[in-house]
Amino acid sequence: MHELKDLAGVLGLMSWDQETYLPSKAGPARAAQLATLQGLYHQRLVAPEVGDWLERAERVELDAETRAMLKVFRRERDHSVRVPESLVRALAEAQSTGLETWREARTARDFARFAPALQRLLELRREQADAIGHGGERYDALLDHFEPEMTTARLLPVLERLRASLVPLVDALDGALGGPEIFDGRSFDAERQWQFTLELLELLGFDLHAGRQDRSIHPFTGGTHPTDVRLTTRIDPVNPSPALFGTLHEFGHGLYEQGFAAAHHRTPLAAAPSMGLHESQSRLWENLVGRSLPFWEFLYPRLRSSFPEALAGVELEDFHRAINRVRRSPIRVEADEITYNLHIVLRTALEVRLLRDELRVTDLPEAWNSEMERTVGLRPRDDVEGVLQDIHWAHGEFGYFPTYALGNLYAASLMRTAERALPVLWDEVTRGEFGALRAWLGQHIHRHGAWGSAEERVQAVTGHGLTDTDFLAYLRSKYGALSGRALPTDPHR
Ligand SMILES: [Zn+2]
Repeated sequence: MHELKDLAGVLGLMSWDQETYLPSKAGPARAAQLATLQGLYHQRLVAPEVGDWLERAERVELDAETRAMLKVFRRERDHSVRVPESLVRALAEAQSTGLETWREARTARDFARFAPALQRLLELRREQADAIGHGGERYDALLDHFEPEMTTARLLPVLERLRASLVPLVDALDGALGGPEIFDGRSFDAERQWQFTLELLELLGFDLHAGRQDRSIHPFTGGTHPTDVRLTTRIDPVNPSPALFGTLHEFGHGLYEQGFAAAHHRTPLAAAPSMGLHESQSRLWENLVGRSLPFWEFLYPRLRSSFPEALAGVELEDFHRAINRVRRSPIRVEADEITYNLHIVLRTALEVRLLRDELRVTDLPEAWNSEMERTVGLRPRDDVEGVLQDIHWAHGEFGYFPTYALGNLYAASLMRTAERALPVLWDEVTRGEFGALRAWLGQHIHRHGAWGSAEERVQAVTGHGLTDTDFLAYLRSKYGALSGRALPTDPHR
């Protein structure tokens, strides 16, 4: 397990480097290096003697922690053993073709060019799902990779309820919080933004001796080990939002990674139990803390002194409303905190239908557009604004999208519990102090790593499993206050 974790760390370093500093000519060489190392990782994981060791270990009486460790290890190994190497190779090829034709289709603004590659990826994913095994719902096998122990039958009703509750909220709030974009026509010095994000990381409590921040086009959190956690952020010289909220988001992921128990380092337990729980940590800091008024009561004067000209005449209240504005957009990554979830509901429903063979690839753009109209309330102008906008399906990733919405739901439940446990929480935030919340998350979430499923962990901390109740209560309280409006009653409550 140590060897595999070390190999994964080296792969992590090479991928991080690929996204940050790799010279442009070195792309193909790096791809070959990564493929070789991934091959070594796979060989070591599926080696027959490793299977023997695992079986022998499982027969021995073990403490709960070691059993949990072996369970995580077995899940990963079983997935790898069951999927034949020929399928792994076919998938890798289909993924590069998928990415390539997706880029061409975007340039031509024409889904038809991407359709054959997507069809091929879907066929291979169905094959993979059957190889892994499932109880009749192929999507479960793919979901399990990102959100172990979550099922389609459990997930879809939660997302459908969320849709029913959020659509009237978006109707009530679209355009209610804002006039013209306050950053329009202003400029924010890139170097000063960069310095500000580093100061922000220090203030939040990211350990810069056990991690670092760099820049990349698409921000992410990677690294090699809990003592080497690498965040990236993106600087836009005319808008400080990507840098501020990108750093806040990745900080949440990074704090989680730094917080795994030292006893679990170099073992399968030094990981989140699911992508959804990992995402709950980034959303908690980005949205529940980072878009709150107490947070900006402390930070806004500092931001203003870093950008006195650009923020001249922009008061705290204007800024706070601007960063929380609700506005329908066809694009997921531009969506606000509420509408965002509708983009996920839509994608998840389409993914399930595609995997079940209930929806044909050729009918996908129209299904997308009409779902978008029904759910978000607008129709994309073309496929680039519609079905071609995200990279996930271009490399055949199905089952990933719902983890974003799960993250929002888990984040709200955890924050509600933290608020009850820590009466000082918001007073501290107003003073720019985050120690109480950080310690609480460390104790209840981070240090447990992958011990138990995401929902079990949330249940243990909050007293209940997956629910939209806390998220909706949070949205209604926040946006009721921000808009000064009485929000429509919830159809489900
Ligand atoms: Zn994230």
